[in-house]
Amino acid sequence: LQYQSCQASVLASNAASSLEDKRRQLGVQLHVSGPDDASFSADHVRIEQVLVNLLSNAMEAAQGGKVILEWKVLPGEIQFVVDDTGHGIDSSLEHRIFEPFFTTKAVGQGTGLGLAVVHGIVQEHGGRIETAQSQLGGACFRVTLPRQAVQE
Ligand code: ADP
Ligand code: MG
Repeated sequence: LQYQSCQASVLASNAASSLEDKRRQLGVQLHVSGPDDASFSADHVRIEQVLVNLLSNAMEAAQGGKVILEWKVLPGEIQFVVDDTGHGIDSSLEHRIFEPFFTTKAVGQGTGLGLAVVHGIVQEHGGRIETAQSQLGGACFRVTLPRQAVQE
């Protein structure tokens, strides 16, 4: 990992910009918000990839609906939360979503690698990822990372 000083707001807006075409094609409203001064130490390329993969899934699930990306600073940690108005995750499949190649999408529509990559990156940073039901009706993914680099 290439640890650098990262600003959550910069990573979030980079991730959102790189998905702007997809967002428009799927007719999704995206709301991005959090404190401007939330800095932490991480590999910014990889954490941007985490946000892109989570937002991409949320947009695909919430076509024509809404996706929210928020972050907040916790004691010693930073947390990113992605919520969507989609169909949510069937509880019988929840334990499999981080497996490589697990997808519920049509052939050619999903590789099943997005969340496996997300999981790997979060683990490498000494963080954790949780899923829940979103207040918005769809899925909620919470990524919590230490603000200081974890020495392996
Ligand atoms: P892919 O997007 O290629 O299917 P992922 O690893 O990104 O692969 O996601 C695996 C599976 O997890 C998806 O096929 C879907 O069933 C489920 N999933 C992920 N994110 C969401 C979400 N926001 N809402 C509903 N289901 C989701
Ligand atoms: Mg995906």
